[in-house]
Amino acid sequence: MRVVIIGGVAAGMSAAARLRRLDEHAEIIVFERDRYVSYASCGLPYHIGGTIEDRQQLLVSTPEYLHANLALDVRVEHEVVAIDRVAHQVTVHQRASGNQSVEPYDTLVLALGAEPLRPPIPGIDHTMVMALRSIGDMDAIMARIDSGAKRAVVIGGSYIGVEVIEALCNRGLAVELVELQDQVMPLLDREIAAGLREHLEAHGVAVHVGVSARRFSDSEGRVSVELSDGRQLTADLVILAVGVRPAVGLAKAAGLELGPRGGLKVNAQLRTSDPDIYAAGDMIEVVDTVTGDPAIIALAGPANRQGRIIADQICGRATSYTSTQGTAILKVFELTAAMTGASEKTLRRIGRPYHKIYVHPSDHASYYPDAEQMQIKLLFAPTSGAILGAQIIGGAGVDKRIDVLATALRAGLTVFDLEELELAYAPPYASAKDPINMAGFTAANLLRGDVQFWYAEEYPAQANDALIVDVRNPDEYAAWRIPGAINIPLPELRQQFGQLRDLADGRPIRLYCMVGFRSYLAYRTLRQSGFSDLATLAGGARTLIAYYGAQLPTPAPLPEQLVR
Ligand code: FAD
Repeated sequence: MRVVIIGGVAAGMSAAARLRRLDEHAEIIVFERDRYVSYASCGLPYHIGGTIEDRQQLLVSTPEYLHANLALDVRVEHEVVAIDRVAHQVTVHQRASGNQSVEPYDTLVLALGAEPLRPPIPGIDHTMVMALRSIGDMDAIMARIDSGAKRAVVIGGSYIGVEVIEALCNRGLAVELVELQDQVMPLLDREIAAGLREHLEAHGVAVHVGVSARRFSDSEGRVSVELSDGRQLTADLVILAVGVRPAVGLAKAAGLELGPRGGLKVNAQLRTSDPDIYAAGDMIEVVDTVTGDPAIIALAGPANRQGRIIADQICGRATSYTSTQGTAILKVFELTAAMTGASEKTLRRIGRPYHKIYVHPSDHASYYPDAEQMQIKLLFAPTSGAILGAQIIGGAGVDKRIDVLATALRAGLTVFDLEELELAYAPPYASAKDPINMAGFTAANLLRGDVQFWYAEEYPAQANDALIVDVRNPDEYAAWRIPGAINIPLPELRQQFGQLRDLADGRPIRLYCMVGFRSYLAYRTLRQSGFSDLATLAGGARTLIAYYGAQLPTPAPLPEQLVR
């Protein structure tokens, strides 16, 4: 059996290595157009930033090693330029010699990855406008930095853009971010992403959202970036990180069927429309775990697992690839943001009913040193409580919580199951009620009718028709409050029922505190004391402020005598 694999990084090398482990006798040839195979593309930003000091560390393997240990025939600087499906052969261009040859296959595996998007912006071919996809790109960016670059503009504030920003800052550059959407990290919901923006700005990054780059031009040896609102930014280096598109040119030319999102169409066995050709990684369309729709999700984990499944398939094993849920994590300086499953934006777009809750637990017991607060947003189905998605932002412990939620989502668990999960606990690592349990308790409280929430997006409508009650301490209320809110601190609530009834005068009561815990306690007290039409602000003022940002009116601090 002669298996030809095109693309020698994540999906391609994963397929090749497993295939050898399953079949000692297969002839396995990998064509990679780059100089390197099996390198750590996810590590590129960290070498630019200096965290991974030794460039060699990124080169996980070499053709020589792969030949010696796995008997793989890996040919670098060999670009496949055509697929002849009828003759079962590929045409290969050898970059060094310029020669072309024809190589037959019994089975072909496509793992060509994705290409960075390069929108048709005038001046985009300026030498200082760069993208980061390969080792060569990384070397070019580092050479530019080493030649004395002082200022950089990053276009696109998603994963790669944000990781590159940190790297450039670590190298001492002044960095500006330009993002077309009205928030950093458009994959996240806005109230979660708000913390990322704040953190970037705290590290000196100038963040421009809701604008795009309109033109790049030369400016006395530097590059000038004209923004859609007319502003001009000048830099020594521009990193274009506006997304990727599946590298399907070769497959399309060979007549293979594409999916509705523009990726290569494959079935659950990762077979393309040609039964002798498999495909994996960034170039294919997958099924979204939550929505069930075709999706393009460029992540290393799915690419590696898909490569493995293709090897199984070639060897006659009955495995299949079910779906991708988009579990991803991002480090930005001291902050971590992570998500799994559908965002609220996505659920709204597809019209899928959902509920949401927010909790702000500490990563470990708050009495043990260095506890850090995280914010968890959990999205779940209204009746069954099935988990639909989660987003977390914080410091330590975000990674393990998102992984638990990703596992729960994949396993079809509900918020009631999260209440039950028995997770490892000792004070340095977690709390006896883990953040995951807390999210489960809060969501289950909602589904059982033990609490009613009002949400940031319902402001100011709710505030206009209701009595807004701030149950925080007077000093917190004096410093910032929702316009029109009255203050009844939680410890005084039980003595203020009469006054509260008078002030509400039949109107609904909407409670809030900083993150939603004290107002939940107030809710339970009032509910059991005869008050009805109550709701507590989900995620508290912190979530409301994050949701509206600068658009939220901030009342002037109270005069001294009015501070209770
Ligand atoms: P690739 O790994 O890109 O491999 C495709 C290979 O095919 C390339 O080497 C290309 O040269 C080769 N090729 C293309 N056309 C031809 C041809 N005609 N002939 C021969 N060879 C060809 N994902 C995460 O999950 N977490 C992260 O933290 C993360 N960080 C990232 C950081 C950066 C800077 C980048 C660029 C990506 C990151 N990713 C991350 C995404 C992840 O790297 C990709 O999802 C993954 O590599 C996709 O695997 P793949 O095999 O489909 O494509």
